Amino acid sequence: MRSPFPTSLLFLSFRAHCFSPHLFNRHCPLALFAAQLQQSSVCKDVATGTAIHAIALKLGYGDLLFLNNHLLNFYCKCQLIQNAHRLFDEMPQRNVVSWTALMAGYVHCGQGYEALQLFAEAKKGGAWVNAFTFATAINACSALADVHDGLKLHGQAEIEGYVSNLVVGSALVDMYGKCGLVDHARRVFDEMAVKNIVTWTSMISICAQNGRGPEAIQLFAALQARNLVPNEYTFATVVNACASLGCLGAGKLSHALIIRRHCDTNEVVSSALVDMYPKCGCLNYAVKVFRRVADPKVIQWTSIIMGHAQHGLGHAGLQLFDEMLARGIQPNDVTLVGVLYACSHSGLVNRGKEVFDSMYRVYGVIPDTKHYTCMVDMLGRAGRLDDAEALIETMPMAPDVLLWGALLSASRSHGRIELAIKAAENLIELNQQLDSTYVTLSNMYASVDRWSDAVRIRREMKIRGICKEPGCSWIEVKSKTYVFFAGDQSCVHEGQIITVLQELEKKMREKGYVADRSLVFHNVEEEAKEEILGFHSERLALAFGLINTAEGSVIRILKNLRICSDCHEAFKLLSEIVSRDLIVRDVNRFHHFGNGSCSCGDYW
Ligand code: ZN
Ligand code: ZN
Repeated sequence: MRSPFPTSLLFLSFRAHCFSPHLFNRHCPLALFAAQLQQSSVCKDVATGTAIHAIALKLGYGDLLFLNNHLLNFYCKCQLIQNAHRLFDEMPQRNVVSWTALMAGYVHCGQGYEALQLFAEAKKGGAWVNAFTFATAINACSALADVHDGLKLHGQAEIEGYVSNLVVGSALVDMYGKCGLVDHARRVFDEMAVKNIVTWTSMISICAQNGRGPEAIQLFAALQARNLVPNEYTFATVVNACASLGCLGAGKLSHALIIRRHCDTNEVVSSALVDMYPKCGCLNYAVKVFRRVADPKVIQWTSIIMGHAQHGLGHAGLQLFDEMLARGIQPNDVTLVGVLYACSHSGLVNRGKEVFDSMYRVYGVIPDTKHYTCMVDMLGRAGRLDDAEALIETMPMAPDVLLWGALLSASRSHGRIELAIKAAENLIELNQQLDSTYVTLSNMYASVDRWSDAVRIRREMKIRGICKEPGCSWIEVKSKTYVFFAGDQSCVHEGQIITVLQELEKKMREKGYVADRSLVFHNVEEEAKEEILGFHSERLALAFGLINTAEGSVIRILKNLRICSDCHEAFKLLSEIVSRDLIVRDVNRFHHFGNGSCSCGDYW
């Protein structure tokens, strides 16, 4: 058998690298070789590992399956996949461990397809495979996001009775999660006889990442009921789920548990908490958690800066950025997005430009589309739409959906309809399923009397089967989440909600409120339009909150779309009328309404 290097040279290098002279102990060199190879795999010590290979060949151990498997594992772990495959081909004997090791090596090197080919070869040749081999093949499908082969393997595993096995089951759950088939993942998860904390955590993250936050939180509760001890990743995952749902109650409960387990200063957990609280409308809690971390890393700094930016507290966000720099922490690309976002939402155009221009020079970060989007948003908000357009022209990459979206909303709010139309047309070209853009574009064509274009867009929507995404808002009352849809009159408290809304409407009119009719599509009768506005989902949620929460307490509402300017106006007035702080998190940002005004300064 050939060794990868000239043997004489290796003996020299081996002596130099040799950790322990008793490696040459003639009584039991094999066990020592194995131990040393294991050590070399962990340390990625290629020189020692290859030296052992050469010595083993010299000593006549080249045919030993036990040693060859250790060598195979070593080459795979060090990502020397060609050496591994050559060894595998030359091995006179192979067993399940050899096949699995080489497959895992290929998965590890990002060559999932080769791993699947090996699996097929093993099965075809009648080689015995076990749960680990199956799991490795399934991992290859995960890495490739290849659900077709994944389903086939699932079928085979079922026939051979491996599905309830912990390793195979966990691999299947992970694979379906990566392929976005949450129901499939959940079915396997439920069928597994034995589950460990890793399986639970992966199922919770799968749910959290696929917009199934309530299920993630339920799973977390079920995990605790089984007396399983969550680890820091479980905590971070469930906190992320609370963040995406804006579930402050559930988030606080998890936080309490995290404190009890002394995990609150852990890097992963604390940054999840610092990220979660602002998203649930509680920036001050995030600051408290952040200040408890003795030595915050860039990830925690990024979360806290982003939190301030989302709440429109750009100055405070920039102060934190300066504090971070003063402590010698280098920002990464995400931190810089946060910083630009902070500038953008507080109208700090000059500072924003300064940061953008120095990104590469000072911090070594090449601006990507996210940074350009922040800049376009910032210039657009400040009414410098020509500058924004000029910046887009200089971009080295193609603008994406978010960037055109930023230009669209800026040019709309500044009445630059032609530019807005250009942005909307580009948006539709990039993503044909953007229902709200179709409606906006059609309305804009109508507003500049381009009726035939307006009709064309409406027709296109019909042909493509696109209908307007229904507005939906949710509110948490006593740790329970209630969801409201625009124009929904079927909710349990319907009568009460309508009465409250009508009373509020009357008080608003006394303060001079006139519903803005320009926002609703033009073919609706005037009065009906106003009624539709009256039933925008955030108003239903607000009325429900007013009925079901203590007087004077803060009301927090989440919305799936951007809050319309009419509701924005109404909420400002309402915060004064009901003497409460109203916090609305829409798809873009937070609005703190209080005493008749909003924290965004009507700048959103
Ligand atoms: Zn509205
Ligand atoms: Zn606002």
